[in-house]
Amino acid sequence: MAASSPEESPSAGPRLRIGHGYDLHRLEPVAPDGPGRPLIIGGVRCDQNRGPVARSDGDALLHAVTDAVLGALALPDIGELFPDTDEANEGRDSAAFLFEALRLAGEQGYRPVNVDATVILERPKLKPIKGEIRANVARLLGLHESCVNVKGKTHEGVDAVGEGRAIETHAVVLMERADH
Ligand SMILES: [Zn+2]
Repeated sequence: MAASSPEESPSAGPRLRIGHGYDLHRLEPVAPDGPGRPLIIGGVRCDQNRGPVARSDGDALLHAVTDAVLGALALPDIGELFPDTDEANEGRDSAAFLFEALRLAGEQGYRPVNVDATVILERPKLKPIKGEIRANVARLLGLHESCVNVKGKTHEGVDAVGEGRAIETHAVVLMERADH
């Protein structure tokens, strides 16, 4: 009989799985001046006159985190699970997408361990609201704040992101099999 590795059990899949998520939304003047929705980052609403164009609430950070969770489990991505052509997703709170991704991961026996995310945008500066965003993302994931990191960057005035016409996000999520 072959000895089974403590790191990997073929029947249950690897103990640890890593996922990456990326998102970008165009930022436009917020209604009624344009098609933008109020800017929401990690569930935290920002008072800005430009916001994302999206079918859902356009929370680019939660979209990247959701895709990272799904990606870790090699599940269909957020656009496949929640198409922006589906009117059921109109104005939808993106936390619902994250909860569904966590539910699907949980069905396979996995839960999140830690998250590292980067938000790239010109305005607002993330620093004053970073703590609130981090706490909220941790709450949504059921993680201690020490296991969630959110970094803010600008795009140095270059390209659409740098000109304040888009928000870009990246997230890496580590998942572990819950039987450990
Ligand atoms: Zn998105």
